[in-house]
Parts: sequence; structure tokens; C-alpha cells
Amino acid sequence: MNANTDAVIDVIRGRHGKSGFIPLHAPVFLGNEKKYLNECIDSTFVSSVGKYVDRFEEMVAEFTGARKAVAVVNGTNGLHLALRLVGVEVGDEVITQALTFVATTNAIHYAHAHPVFVDVDRDTMGMSPESLEEFLAAQCIRQDGFVKNKTTGRKVSAVMPMHTFGHPARITEIVGICKEWGIPVVEDAAESLGSYDNGQHTGTFGEVAVFSFNGNKTITTGGGGMIVTNNEELGNTAKHLSTTAKVPSSWEFFHDDIGYNYRLPNLNAALGCAQMEKLPEILKNKKETAEYYRQNLSELKGLEFFSPRQGVAVNNWLNAVVLESKNERDRFLKITNEAGIQTRPIWVLQNKLPMNSAAQADNLENSLWLEDRVVNIPSSVVL
Ligand SMILES: *Cc1c(COP(=O)(O)O)cnc(C)c1O
Repeated sequence: MNANTDAVIDVIRGRHGKSGFIPLHAPVFLGNEKKYLNECIDSTFVSSVGKYVDRFEEMVAEFTGARKAVAVVNGTNGLHLALRLVGVEVGDEVITQALTFVATTNAIHYAHAHPVFVDVDRDTMGMSPESLEEFLAAQCIRQDGFVKNKTTGRKVSAVMPMHTFGHPARITEIVGICKEWGIPVVEDAAESLGSYDNGQHTGTFGEVAVFSFNGNKTITTGGGGMIVTNNEELGNTAKHLSTTAKVPSSWEFFHDDIGYNYRLPNLNAALGCAQMEKLPEILKNKKETAEYYRQNLSELKGLEFFSPRQGVAVNNWLNAVVLESKNERDRFLKITNEAGIQTRPIWVLQNKLPMNSAAQADNLENSLWLEDRVVNIPSSVVL
């Protein structure tokens, strides 16, 4: 049955405005953003030194319950550094989900490692623990103190699940499986600030996790990211490596490793502090939007509002609907975008992209099903 797209448009306009262009997700600046930015400029501390970086890190650590938070230039580079932190080396493999944004797999390539793709769950759009467990059991062996992929002969040195659109993956199960195998988990939590699984914030289950503060995320620093971990030592190493690995000294330029210039500038951190102050308000507003969509879209035929599974609290970063087929999805995208309502399909599976053509991929039934049907609908904070 065809989705009644005109009725969907009415529902979207009922929340986001009767006329004009409605973007998928626009940032909002409701608090101290200008004040803090001006303070940076007045103080001349706009770059790599200044009080806002420390404050932003403390705010995110406190909000998420992570022991350590290290601010970085963006989420993608944060993931690159996170993989290095857990010991991913040149030629290793990282198991991730095929259904994710390209940054997840790009970070694996930056580490000169190889992505391996497993399936997602239909009800989370995040890595399927069953798929991961089956892949490990069928394809991998423990040998010489590490996990080896029998087909490629390579070491599997990390597993990287992603919390799609803020919906927590079955992270407890994933971490449990990885503990059994002795493989560290890096959570790509770029989309899930404000999302919890059983009361615990996403990004605090694995060894290390990364949030993104890109312009389209729940809160933004213009560009930026945050590495979080409960492992104090790992957090200190993250800070060290993200700041050129310089050994503290009054004047000597001694660097004890290949470090990165991944530190978040004070200007961006100032924005981050102001945004964090408003995060509870932003989340509340987004929850109202999701609730409105759930109520008003549930009666319409031909599409389903994507609802969170039991036991989780989602940040409602991007709301999603599931159409009945790829044709229906394409029709829906065309009509809504032509009507000035920005909608976007979920990503093309990573294993279909040219730079991943050689990657090993497991059975991706659910990923393929979702790829054809999921569309994001406008989800900005409503002022
Ligand atoms: C946004 C995003 C990233 C990357 O974050 P940037 O800050 O834009 O580099 C990584 N992974 C996922 C799933 C994302 O959505």
C-alpha cells in the first residue's frame, strides 16, 4: 500500500511550520554561546589553550558518567585515535556494521586496518550481537594470544558498533561477547549523546567511545568530538596523543610518540559549554517531537514510525520512518523534498562503497532490508 505522503507532510508541517523550507536538522543557540565566544576573543585564547576545553570535557564526563573525556577536532578523528588507543595496528581487522555513516569505516582506514562487516538488528539499526557472535564462531580462532580471522589470516583487534540515530545497539550483549573473545569495543556514539541503555549512558559500555558535535548533531561545536572512557590511563593517553604527544616541559620540544593535532580549539569548546548547558532542554524538546510523530504517524498506512526498543531512552536525534519498499521510499523522498521538506534515506551499505569493495562481509539481510526502506524526517528543535 502506498504511503499517504500528503498526510505525512501535513504531520511534519504541523510541528515544524506551515510554510517554507523545513531542514532535516538545524542547530539551535539558545543560551550563552555568544557570551562565551566573546570571552574567548576578548581573552585572545581562541585556540589550543583556554578554560573552555577543560570545562567542556568535565561537562561531558559528568553528563555521561564517563570517568574521562577528551575533546577532539571532530568525531571521525576521534574514532581514528580511539582505534589506536585500543591497540589497532597496521593490517589488523576491525569488525563493524555495514549500515553506518562512512566516518566509521574511514576511521578504520586511517588506522591502516581493514573493516569487516556484520549485520544489524532490525529494531535498533545497530550491530546485531547474534551476527557478531556467529561471525566470530564461524570465522575466527584464538591463536597465539589473539583472535585471528581464519579466511584472511589477520588479527581482529577491535569491534566497533554504532548507535544509529541515537537508538542504542544491544551494547551489553556485544560487550559480553567481546569480553569472552578478549576483543576491545570502541563505541561509535557519534549520534547518541543523551541516549541510555538500561539507565547507563551510551559510550560508557565499551573500552572507549566517541561523540560528535558536528553541525547536524544533537548539540554542536561547529565541528568537534569527544573521546570518553572509564579507563583513566587510556584517557590520559588520548589527551597526550591528541596534543602532538609532547612531553610536558617549560620549553623543550620533546615528543615521545607520533601524536596528532586533534585537540579541540577553545572557541569550539566555548560553544560546546553553552550547548551542554541547554542539552536537557534540547532533549526534552526532541522527545516531544518524537512523541508527536509517533502519535500522528502511527495511524497512517504504508509507513511505520521507528520506535525505540524496550529498556532504552533515546535522544531522538533524527526521527526515522520505515517505508514498505525501495520504490515507495524513493517516491516518498521525491514528494517530500519537492514540497520543501528535507528528508534523507539511510546510508548506502559500507560494503557497497568502492574503497570497501575488498572487505569481508557477513550475511547482511537486515542491513539490506533497512537500507531500502528507512528515511529520516525533520527533527530540529522546535522554538
Ligand atoms: C557524525 C558521525 C561521525 C563523525 O563525526 P564528525 O564529527 O562529523 O567527524 C562518525 N560516525 C557517525 C555514525 C556519525 O554519524
